[in-house]
Amino acid sequence: MNYSSENRLKKQNPQTQYPQPPFPRQPQERPGTVEDMTPRPDHGEESYKGNNRLEGRKALITGGDSGIGRAAAIAFAREGADVAINYLPEEEANAKQVIKLIEAEGRTAVAIPGDIIKEEFCEELVATAVEKMGGLDILVNNAGRQTAQKFITDITTEQFDNTFKVNVYALFWITRAAMPHLKEGASIINTASIQSFDPSANLLDYAQTKACIVSFTKSLAAQVADKGIRVNAVAPGPFWTPLQPSGGQPQDKIEEFGSSTLLKRPGQPVECAPVYVLLASQEASYITGETMGLSGGTMPF
Ligand code: NAD
Ligand code: MG
Repeated sequence: MNYSSENRLKKQNPQTQYPQPPFPRQPQERPGTVEDMTPRPDHGEESYKGNNRLEGRKALITGGDSGIGRAAAIAFAREGADVAINYLPEEEANAKQVIKLIEAEGRTAVAIPGDIIKEEFCEELVATAVEKMGGLDILVNNAGRQTAQKFITDITTEQFDNTFKVNVYALFWITRAAMPHLKEGASIINTASIQSFDPSANLLDYAQTKACIVSFTKSLAAQVADKGIRVNAVAPGPFWTPLQPSGGQPQDKIEEFGSSTLLKRPGQPVECAPVYVLLASQEASYITGETMGLSGGTMPF
């Protein structure tokens, strides 16, 4: 498939714009890599065209090596922002590709590997991003952990704890550390999920964390509105990222991934990018405390 910007932006039927299921089974070890995905995901490497909407801004994106975070990182750089990305040390190869793409736009790129399951690292992460970029205007809390299990009795306390630590605690720790650095015009964007509103049977722990993120987003937006800071969430439906084949869904679900949406296919990470750019930019001056659905027509509201 042709992933050029001409192809992405031309008028066409969105159902057939990107690959549709069935997809091959493709188990990967967590956290997964972009290279092992068939078909190849589109994060905007060749297909995202920027328009200077984030000129001079400084952004920190967690989970910036792959998937939705990678698409946001590429788009932010093309819109004129400096970008710091966080990822797990074992994701260095994917992260290097993103760093190269940010630098190719003439922007500052900062790579900060580390496990956000630890409070101390979350504080270091923010401090390093602020120091290396000389400030912070945009925080994208996007890293996430998802492990499908059929029954509640299959969910160990360790899994439950890890899911909450990465998806809920780290988001709190990172945002709390970032707050003193954020000034008027700053924007916080949290990646929630359709699971926040329509929890699946096999994602009992994950779906709870995603509901927490919507609640956190609303409370925090109310806290910081008077400081001139906006806080929003994005709620994706099925997106074609390493999270899913590396334990996020069983392999029979990967084969049909995205087929139940109105668009009959999963979203490609680049299809999230315009929404993250909008929420980060001053174009979204009247948008705060909101959750924007990106579910191919499956959101239950
Ligand atoms: P992804 O695997 O590409 O990204 C998730 C990232 O989270 C990883 O790249 C990794 O860097 C990071 N991460 C996980 N555990 C970490 C830890 N302990 N420390 C530091 N980083 C850690 O997959 P994605 O789908 O792009 O995921 C991004 C976000 O989107 C997640 O919050 C996920 O829950 C959410 N989401 C995804 C989908 C989907 O269908 N793919 C749907 C709804 C929401
Ligand atoms: Mg990754």
